[in-house]
Amino acid sequence: STFECMKLKPDLLKGIYSYGFEAPSAIQSRAIMQIINGRDTIAQAQSGTGKTATFSIGILQVIESKSKECQALILSPTRELAVQIQGVVKHLGNYMNIQTHACIGGTQLGEDLKKLKQGQQIVSGTPGRVLDMVKRRNLNIRNVKMLILDEADELFLKGFKDQIYEIYKFLPSNVQIVIVSATMSREVLELTNKFTTDPVKILV
Ligand code: AMP
Repeated sequence: STFECMKLKPDLLKGIYSYGFEAPSAIQSRAIMQIINGRDTIAQAQSGTGKTATFSIGILQVIESKSKECQALILSPTRELAVQIQGVVKHLGNYMNIQTHACIGGTQLGEDLKKLKQGQQIVSGTPGRVLDMVKRRNLNIRNVKMLILDEADELFLKGFKDQIYEIYKFLPSNVQIVIVSATMSREVLELTNKFTTDPVKILV
């Protein structure tokens, strides 16, 4: 398959090509359209498969750049990964009018507050700082369309379960869920059962 067949926004397609991608990877071919079509999606995939661009392209295709509300939230287990994801989103969305922010622990709260006040349509973060910002009402996630849980098995291994479940309570009930995990641990399956509706399952 090709990126052209996906009928992406021209500015997004331009971002993909200028990032250096020529053709979709296996997971991208199988998952991007499902995500764009609004399906809850569970992908069993490791790093190196192109998983980050899979959900990043899905997000960028469905968000409305005119609205400054937070429309997509990506949770990942480490600060480094959250920053890396934010970078990928930024590059792929280079020709779209979007604001994206990495909301991670270990940084100045004031910097986060300033950025969030400006309106960040896509937030990539670690569960602790994101929950903190949500509780302080500095990050409004009531209009989020898509929740991505990246490296979900690692999120649980790192003890983020309670924070993830708490963040979920602040999301709208019809939020679309995308879960990426290298392994389908008991906790990931439990999360899948609780959060998703008729999910597409992809194994790469
Ligand atoms: P990830 O699985 O998200 O960690 O991505 C692994 C690497 O593959 C990253 O360096 C990406 O930039 C690269 N990559 C992802 N999708 C593609 C693609 N369609 N074509 C070429 N490189 C890609």
